Amino acid sequence: MAEKTLQAVLNRLYEADVPDKADIEYGLSLQDPAQMGELFAFADEIRRRHVGNGILLRGIIEFSNYCSNTCEYCGLNKTNTNLTRYKLTDKQILNCIEQIANSGIGTVVLQSGEQTDLDAYWLAGIIREIKTRFDIAITLSVGERPFDDYALWKEAGADRYLLKIETTNRQLYQKLHPQMSFDNRLKCSKDLGILGYQNGSGNIIGLPGQTISDIAGDILFFAGERFDMIGIGPFIPHPATALSDCPSGDVEMVLKTIAVTRIITKDAHLPATTAIGSLNGNDHRPAALTAGANVLMPNFTPQPWRQLYEIYPGKRCSTEAPGTCGPCIDIMADTIGRTIDLSRGDSLKKKRKECA
Ligand code: SF4
Repeated sequence: MAEKTLQAVLNRLYEADVPDKADIEYGLSLQDPAQMGELFAFADEIRRRHVGNGILLRGIIEFSNYCSNTCEYCGLNKTNTNLTRYKLTDKQILNCIEQIANSGIGTVVLQSGEQTDLDAYWLAGIIREIKTRFDIAITLSVGERPFDDYALWKEAGADRYLLKIETTNRQLYQKLHPQMSFDNRLKCSKDLGILGYQNGSGNIIGLPGQTISDIAGDILFFAGERFDMIGIGPFIPHPATALSDCPSGDVEMVLKTIAVTRIITKDAHLPATTAIGSLNGNDHRPAALTAGANVLMPNFTPQPWRQLYEIYPGKRCSTEAPGTCGPCIDIMADTIGRTIDLSRGDSLKKKRKECA
């Protein structure tokens, strides 16, 4: 029987081609603060070894909060009729991009709710315009689309796509996404890989009904699909949703998930998400950055629209002006002995494949 000391488990998680689910669950189940500290320190060392000391910045623009879906945990879901909806104009979007480029940041993330009537040709035009005017990588995050739309945007110049699986427990997924299909989500994720996007996934920790075994399954999925980026954040209940009375995700479980994911995936880009920076009114991003994360996503959505992109309440920096994150991020990096990396921060997995 495999040895169950923490160090032995951590070594196995790091070295195994296909990690043992029981070892992942062991790491996620740690409760003793000293042992959790050991897990985070191990993950931090793997982060240093495989992605270095730089914290990559991705400037995010939430260009529309319209959504056709009814995800039960999300304040943007279409049944929330109290929310004022917006879509930025082309000029507003390009102004935001200019601000990001002027800050020296090498990646923009264009994010919106999932709108079935989003004009794919309009977005392709925006992508082309950005690529003509700025030397910047583009990540899209606009949800499930037909293969041809993904192909159109890739051909227009998009580099990366973030489509979180949210949970790999099929029954739980179906319960939380009544109008969506787990199989279609998987198909979309595969399509993005086939088209050569730098491919991103991720999950939500603390969803009502989610178990440690489910989270371990998510991590095995991330590792098996070799995602380039993996966003891990807590569930935070929104008052205008069906899950308003459910408790938030546990910060330690989020940190343990980041740590185990880092140890297993090694060189994936893992953000210290805004959600973990907002959980219970506290900024846990420094803790995430010292438990395996290596990316921050400063928000460049202009006011007053930024406050309307309320997937969950209490979102950090939702009342601040764009471009004001710089000093805060510098202090955060300094405090934990890290540096800020403004480069494009492309997939290390793809780079390695190209060099092979
Ligand atoms: S999670 Fe995304 S797709 Fe689901 S309701 Fe919110 S914005 Fe829409």
